[in-house]
Amino acid sequence: MSIQYKTISQLREMIDAKSISSQELVKETLKLAESLKELNCFVTMNKDEGIKKAIEVDGTNTSNSLLKGIPLAQKDLFCTEGLRTTCSSKILADFVPPYTATAVEKLENAGSITIGKTNMDEFAMGSSNETSFFGNVHNPWKKGYVPGGSSGGSAAAVAAGIIPAATGTDTGGSIRQPAAHCGITGIKPTYGRVSRWGMIAFASSLDQAGPLARSAEDCAILLNEMSGYDPKDTTCLNVENTNLLQSINQPIKGLKIGIVKEFNLGDLKAEVQIRFEESKKIYESLGAEFVEISLPSISASVPTYYSIAPAECSSNLSRFDGVRFGYRAKDTDDLNDLYIKSRSEGFGDEVKRRILIGTYALSAGYYDAYYKKAQQVRRLIKNDFEVAFRSIDLIMTPTSPGTAFAFGSKGVQNPVELYLEDLFTISSNLAGLPAISIPHGKVNGLPVGLQLIGNFLKEDLLLNAAHIFQQNSEFHLERPSMEEF
Ligand code: GLN
Repeated sequence: MSIQYKTISQLREMIDAKSISSQELVKETLKLAESLKELNCFVTMNKDEGIKKAIEVDGTNTSNSLLKGIPLAQKDLFCTEGLRTTCSSKILADFVPPYTATAVEKLENAGSITIGKTNMDEFAMGSSNETSFFGNVHNPWKKGYVPGGSSGGSAAAVAAGIIPAATGTDTGGSIRQPAAHCGITGIKPTYGRVSRWGMIAFASSLDQAGPLARSAEDCAILLNEMSGYDPKDTTCLNVENTNLLQSINQPIKGLKIGIVKEFNLGDLKAEVQIRFEESKKIYESLGAEFVEISLPSISASVPTYYSIAPAECSSNLSRFDGVRFGYRAKDTDDLNDLYIKSRSEGFGDEVKRRILIGTYALSAGYYDAYYKKAQQVRRLIKNDFEVAFRSIDLIMTPTSPGTAFAFGSKGVQNPVELYLEDLFTISSNLAGLPAISIPHGKVNGLPVGLQLIGNFLKEDLLLNAAHIFQQNSEFHLERPSMEEF
């Protein structure tokens, strides 16, 4: 029986019924990944260790975790002990970490098997996966089209049915936007729900790890395991871990959903608007109510993000200097020359652009005008959400203004074109709020995503609303034909 496109629950049943062992499942998954190599989803495979772990898991009956024996893939910015972790950058192309990120460790402790590390935008900076040192990832729905980014490899691997779920990270939309462009489900949790320890930092006050999967239910299974207090990350929240699967099936009658006035959905392509209106109707038929809300400072989200994120990245990436680890340039004259050449040769253009912008924004003369101002505006955006959530339960927006696009067609002359991909996703990172993207149909043959944003730690409600939608529609069951690959 083919294992392609199976969900976690389906694979669980197969393993429990002994119709497949974890070892066989992992071998099949590796074979499938190999046969779909052209997608370029993976940077590194974990073949031998993966099979070894599967054999071990097959031999134990101690754990009854839903993830026991299930193959998963990790975005290549989670450190994995003994397994190359590159951040899709030349500067880390040979980096083998001595430890494993907490989020991945928790998933592995639950019995899942890491089968490989997925391709991504370099250091998670991008919306198309085109900034990867290891080349573009194809969108399984259309060859030569981007899968979205930065977690593009994870999204494409799940959409192509190679693995049931994968990890991603989201600083400004990097789980939700690729999930939308690939027709799958992805959730960015509340800032601090999942430990960032061992996750290579881009912008520390915005980065958050989360799952991408074929359904909200599978996202809940992963998030249940990934979440939880970690003393090694001081920004990790010390709150009780609720079982997100338990509340996923509640009726949503009376749920109040806000539509953001300032987002001017009328400016979007007609087909995107039509999908949005149709999804509203589905929610209405399930008893949800829609109310217009105002988030007065929301229009400042993108410029605010593009001041704060580069500032934090310029500081975080200063550790890659050619001395301690990573790429080191040859033929250098002195220490300064070594720094300059290693960084110039090791980083790609987008990363350099962000470091330059960030260093400028943090410099003594401009700090107040840019970084401090951006932090003040961030507070205003957060306040807007705080006020809105006094009268509503969730907010609904499209995930992205459009669909996936052809390689090289966006942001080449003007990077801001690509920055606008995250128009709807960035504000929840600035405010630290959880948000999910679920597939809700196609426009010109390509999937589009619907975003729901929740209040702090309201992942249960988000997953509940997403799951009920998926119980009452079939968008998440659609699959790419994959004929081109
Ligand atoms: N696309 C945004 C950026 O380029 C967000 C990336 C992310 O969430 N990691 O910064």
